[in-house]
Amino acid sequence: MHSESGAPPRDPVVDADAAVQLTRDLVRLRTVADAEEVEGPAVRLLARLFSEFGWRHEVVEVAPGRQNLVAVVEGGGGEGPTLMFEGHTDVVTEGDSADWSMDPYGAEIRDGKLWGRGAADMKSGLAAMVHGVRGLELAGPFPGRVVLGVLCDEEGMMLGAKAFAASPAAAGVDGVIVCEPEGYEVCTSARGGIRLRLELTGVMAHGAMPQEAKSPLLAGARIVQALAGVEEWAVRRWGTHPHAGAVTVTPTVLHAGDASQLNVIPAHGLVGVDVRTIPGTDHGELIGRVRQAAGEAAATVGVTVETTVVDDRPAVEVAQDHPVVAALVAGHLGEHGVPPAYGAVPGTTDGTILTRDAGLPTVVYGPGGKWIAHQKDEYVEVAEIGAYARVYANAARHFLTGGAAR
Ligand SMILES: [Zn+2]
Repeated sequence: MHSESGAPPRDPVVDADAAVQLTRDLVRLRTVADAEEVEGPAVRLLARLFSEFGWRHEVVEVAPGRQNLVAVVEGGGGEGPTLMFEGHTDVVTEGDSADWSMDPYGAEIRDGKLWGRGAADMKSGLAAMVHGVRGLELAGPFPGRVVLGVLCDEEGMMLGAKAFAASPAAAGVDGVIVCEPEGYEVCTSARGGIRLRLELTGVMAHGAMPQEAKSPLLAGARIVQALAGVEEWAVRRWGTHPHAGAVTVTPTVLHAGDASQLNVIPAHGLVGVDVRTIPGTDHGELIGRVRQAAGEAAATVGVTVETTVVDDRPAVEVAQDHPVVAALVAGHLGEHGVPPAYGAVPGTTDGTILTRDAGLPTVVYGPGGKWIAHQKDEYVEVAEIGAYARVYANAARHFLTGGAAR
């Protein structure tokens, strides 16, 4: 499937088998947040490989037991831009492994698929970026350099991306390809996310004397209804984005009372809200609207609301004609013969942080289905791993040479 464009001797040649093997080796490492060591085993395995390749690299401890691994591959072909590939080594837990049809850490290959936790999100992406860059390097000198950011804690608070964005290494990066699973879509935007805790305070009373209570249950029910109104307002206010859709305001937690005390109206309750936004959304204005609507709804039953912003990540976007997007589109076209579809990441990625904190233009494109992440029986198509590695290699060549090597 490899295209014949460009001068054959300078075309990157990717070792697809090695990329598949590396994916399997990584999937077999249980790098989940509740493990004794999270990223450590994967970081050591990749650092060993980078040493074999002769790549300059550094392991940075960004929190106790949480490491970033950053490599720099100089092209040896004179001055040029810096392209970064990014991936994370942590995975979400397998849940109940009895729900799986195979060993979640077996990295079994069956029916042309590689199965296991992290197969798609995103150990295949990591393996593809490593062997893509290796293929680029073996094809000969290139201008500029490639940075490989293997960052930690993506599934948590994105500590690795935050640390990298604050480091001097981020300053020289001209474009980032985040290798998260997006099913062949070139994702030029990612939805933003806001998590809110609405703490409700009322007055406790006997269930036989509800007139004495100020019930957080009634307040919670009214707030949930009010949030639907906030969502409608937000959709009118910010419209619909061609890829990222529209703002959603979703209650995710509604809690009050004690299941063993059915005759008691409690004093306290909690509503949790997950807000997703699109490029252009003013988070301050939207949070203000939620605060106001919740406060008014609760006040109708005499309950007060304390709103805490637990997390706030903006929606981000890179222009479709940015060189990093153009390079990826050229790489995809070279491999597949047809242009890719554009899309949006439904959630946030490390790329969100790299854009927010360091202003880095970021595009997301990687092996694995867009919707398979965090599910049971996670898999990636084996053939995709090599295909993505070749796209990465060719995209890098386009980006670093300005397309001149074609
Ligand atoms: Zn991921």
